[in-house]
Amino acid sequence: MKPIKEREKQLRESLANLDTKLHQIEAELEQPMPKDFEDRASEREEDEVLEGLGNAGLQKQRMINAALKRIKNGTYGDCVKCGNEISQERLDVLPYTPQCHICAN
Ligand SMILES: [Zn+2]
Repeated sequence: MKPIKEREKQLRESLANLDTKLHQIEAELEQPMPKDFEDRASEREEDEVLEGLGNAGLQKQRMINAALKRIKNGTYGDCVKCGNEISQERLDVLPYTPQCHICAN
């Protein structure tokens, strides 16, 4: 079993990476629209993709923050739905997951 400190470190690192990424997306979205009509259309498409990424990122950020809270409360690694332990293999892949593989499916 991986020590909880290591999980916490991993979560904090991905949270920091995510934060950087979200700021980059934000900066990109704030760029002014090009004057050319065609450029503008492709810029708009790009913005939509970026917004999607941003939303996914925000959701992940919330999940990581919730996982950090569970570490603090001592409930990290327990499924929030059924209370069973989440397998280490699952936590290795998704360290911020709140549910065991049974409840998640
Ligand atoms: Zn469960």
